[in-house]
Amino acid sequence: MKLEQFFQMAASDINCNTSYPINKKFFSIYCTNIDIMENTEALSLYYHIPFCKHLCRFCEYTRFLCGDTAQQSDYITKLIAQSEAFFSSHKIKKLYGLDIGGGTPTSLDLPILNRFLDYLSEIRQKYLLSEFFEPSIEFSFSTIDDEKIRCIAEHKIPRMSTGIQVYDDKLLNEMHRLPQTLEHMERMTKVIHNAGIKKLNIDLMYGFPNQTDIMLSNSLYSIRVLEPEQVTLYEMRYNKNGLDSASIDRNVLFRQYEYLFNGLMASGYKGRFGQNTFSKFEDEGVSSYLYSRMFLGRPYKGFGVSAQSMSDKGIAYNMLKSDNSQYMPGFDEISEEYSYLLPKEELAAKYICISLYSGRFNLSVLERILSCDPLSYYHNEFRFLTEHQYVEISNGICTLTKEGFRLYGAVAALFWSAYHREQYIKMKKGE
Ligand code: SF4
Repeated sequence: MKLEQFFQMAASDINCNTSYPINKKFFSIYCTNIDIMENTEALSLYYHIPFCKHLCRFCEYTRFLCGDTAQQSDYITKLIAQSEAFFSSHKIKKLYGLDIGGGTPTSLDLPILNRFLDYLSEIRQKYLLSEFFEPSIEFSFSTIDDEKIRCIAEHKIPRMSTGIQVYDDKLLNEMHRLPQTLEHMERMTKVIHNAGIKKLNIDLMYGFPNQTDIMLSNSLYSIRVLEPEQVTLYEMRYNKNGLDSASIDRNVLFRQYEYLFNGLMASGYKGRFGQNTFSKFEDEGVSSYLYSRMFLGRPYKGFGVSAQSMSDKGIAYNMLKSDNSQYMPGFDEISEEYSYLLPKEELAAKYICISLYSGRFNLSVLERILSCDPLSYYHNEFRFLTEHQYVEISNGICTLTKEGFRLYGAVAALFWSAYHREQYIKMKKGE
């Protein structure tokens, strides 16, 4: 299939976004028993807490209804055991970042959260930390209180991140998500800042079925009231959640993003059009874990069920990656389920897809992965994209233009490996 035809095919499929592989079966040929982290010395860490107090209908993450104290404690014990086993068998010297995500980490009972954060403090003391090292923890306004915030601050975590998603009680109720009053969120925001936590990030989502401009405007209003230092815009993904996407296409998504982008700019946030993260500071609006993973293409190790790891050799996923149950099944220990030894064209595609979340990618990282000049390696792709003004290349960075952002999933698809493209075309044709 010609490049242009393939581009159009991907452009008309809203499931073509920054996910890669688009279907996990496409990676099955790369399954390996080799330890992809064997020679890694510097990396970022991610710890997954899969518990939530309620399960939102749109959620694409591995999450379960939060169990009792015994279940939470047992999970944290196993999480620490997995982490310890990794550090004792690898040659890690330096950490770039540390994110605690989920799920909702603050759904843990306070003593269990405290025990876990004590462990992470020990880890931080054992390794060299990059000068930009900035740990971050996810939370929800419905599971946080003064004591938990104090606990987080005492463990020197300078960034907290949460999703309001939409400031609209009716839509949140439809999505099985517990609405919070603006008064409560305002009070908690003050407690967070008074505790000395410097950065609060709030996620907003667009692309919900039947999401109106009034709803978008109300979400922006909540941002103006709460004044978080950083804001992240998430496009609704329909790949897994089964929601009806009939009214959604790339033009709807583009227009809603533009609406939110303009509102954020008017409220004093900085960021490029096409970027998902915005900040009041001169930063990229992300934790050091995400910056290091996303833009610099550095290795990361994920602990906990479903967590992903990546190195210069390949990618791995822990157990329960696709488990959509309400309650967490029992298991003896947390282990890796799939590990893939990837050829350079897959590593490069994965890097570009991850990085396009920030609306751009770094050619020097691609050169390191491919061991050659990426502009030559992807000669036809770059020619097509620049001729159509979907991307601009300057100072070693390839950045989506406004029109390129409208079709960013198709831009990413041009960098998929030949094998992945072939599998995708077969899947679309129903072969
Ligand atoms: S709170 Fe977050 S992680 Fe939990 S179900 Fe909702 S969207 Fe998913």
